Amino acid sequence: LRRLTSEADLRELSVDAGMISLRPRAGYLAESEREVVSAVDEALRDGIPLTPRGAGTSIPSQAVGTGIVLLQQRRDATLSGALGVACGPALVKSDLNGELDPRGLWMPVDPSSYKSCTVGGMTSNNSAGVRTPKYGSTIDFVERLRAVIPGEGAKEIVPLALEDALAGDARTRMVASLILENQKEIISERPRVTKNSSGYRLERVVHDGLFDLPKLFVGSEGTLGVITEVTFRVLQKPRSRVMFVAESELEGLGDLVSAFREHAPSAVELIDKSVFAKVGKEEMVSPYSRSDLDYLVFAEFDGSEEEVMSKLDDVAGSRAAGYDPVVLGSQSEITKVLEVRSETLARAQEIREGGRVVVPGVEDLVVPPERLDDLVKLLRDQFERRGLGYISYGHAADANLHARPFLDPGSADDMKTLGELMEECFEAVWRMGGSMTGEHGDGMLRAKYVPRQYPITYQIMKAVKEAYDPKGILNPRVKIAWPGPP
Ligand SMILES: Cc1cc2nc3c(=O)[nH]c(=O)nc-3n(C[C@H](O)[C@H](O)[C@H](O)COP(=O)(O)OP(=O)(O)OC[C@H]3O[C@@H](n4cnc5c(N)ncnc54)[C@H](O)[C@@H]3O)c2cc1C
Repeated sequence: LRRLTSEADLRELSVDAGMISLRPRAGYLAESEREVVSAVDEALRDGIPLTPRGAGTSIPSQAVGTGIVLLQQRRDATLSGALGVACGPALVKSDLNGELDPRGLWMPVDPSSYKSCTVGGMTSNNSAGVRTPKYGSTIDFVERLRAVIPGEGAKEIVPLALEDALAGDARTRMVASLILENQKEIISERPRVTKNSSGYRLERVVHDGLFDLPKLFVGSEGTLGVITEVTFRVLQKPRSRVMFVAESELEGLGDLVSAFREHAPSAVELIDKSVFAKVGKEEMVSPYSRSDLDYLVFAEFDGSEEEVMSKLDDVAGSRAAGYDPVVLGSQSEITKVLEVRSETLARAQEIREGGRVVVPGVEDLVVPPERLDDLVKLLRDQFERRGLGYISYGHAADANLHARPFLDPGSADDMKTLGELMEECFEAVWRMGGSMTGEHGDGMLRAKYVPRQYPITYQIMKAVKEAYDPKGILNPRVKIAWPGPP
């Protein structure tokens, strides 16, 4: 087990892409599963927290901790059968794409951070990407895992027949029956959204006569076990795609987006032109812009050549054509627009308004897709009422917006304002049937609100956490605010 002791290493491990910085007691790099087991044993023996970590690109502070921060070395990808790929947890998503692409295969979830984020981090956050409207989030692709559970060593995490789970070992029996007996509450409390990374995804665990344990680990943010291998389902890569680029203000966005959603797009994304203007990079968006309207909306359709041709005809004969979109047919041009979209947050983080920067907190709200306009109105009212500048971009078809106000993380007044914003926005989003987070997760930033998003089933989530990690060493205070401050 390699110790990372240099000042530079420890400084790097003290931060992720969130606002909270914590200096770890030790950084470890495990080369094998056996070394992961020994790091977890050490944390358990010494009673110190352990934070599994991939690339550290998490936003609501879930990849930093005060104890051991554990990186892994394994980054291989092995095709298993025709439609599965087993990956080392440290494999970067773009490298997985590079392995699959020559074989005409893909795993379609590409977070904007896909050139740096790892498959272990994606699995643990239930990450999503621009193509989630058609293909889903990471949870829809994880078939099986291997994970190190505190005190138990490495385990295969695979779906079991429900009856076998109910007759299995004590913990499996307890967790399976708890979820089964509370199915009604679990279903009734689940947000009515197309993507969700808040809490554990209990509603996906028992289905079709199965106890689908991998679904419990997806989105668990390193709080149940350390993932040492993940197997994704993969698909044949679509051969063709077309993109429509339209422009809009935030008012009326819902109508424009629903006009494209009627045709089952693979993506409908929102880009805030002002982000690029403020950092002097207008040339990144100007080729697609023909008006003074503030936002670009692009809608992508993929499939076989015939399917894409027929989508072109469908859109041309529909109300979407009324928005006079530019049509992009060249694959390289479409890839370029997607890269511009991926760059948005990185560019936004360069903007300064005095001491203020764009901060997370309400950066990942998601509501039922038909309530997109209500979400836009909520965010504008909240920011404008407080006189705050803001940016807003994101996954329009999923009504999942990455809105961020400009605030100073070093100012107590500004952080109080952020707390009020979170409080009021979360309450409003819950009333709409939405979730605090569509893809980034709860982290430490939102952990205290998880019991309010799930007033009944939070107790089940806490019991699940205690069942896998009774000493509370794995990522304490992330997602489940237990066992409290160290
Ligand atoms: C510029 C930018 C753009 C982004 N765009 C998107 C986007 O489009 N969609 C999206 O969903 N997210 C996005 N994110 C958030 C983030 O990149 C993703 O959540 C990403 O998948 C995290 O991967 P990571 O390797 O950086 O994980 P980390 O940040 O290192 O860790 C993430 C979580 O997983 C846990 N973890 C990591 N590895 C393991 C393991 N082996 N076992 C158990 N737990 C583990 C950590 O403890 C932590 O809780 C973006 C972030 C940035 C900075």
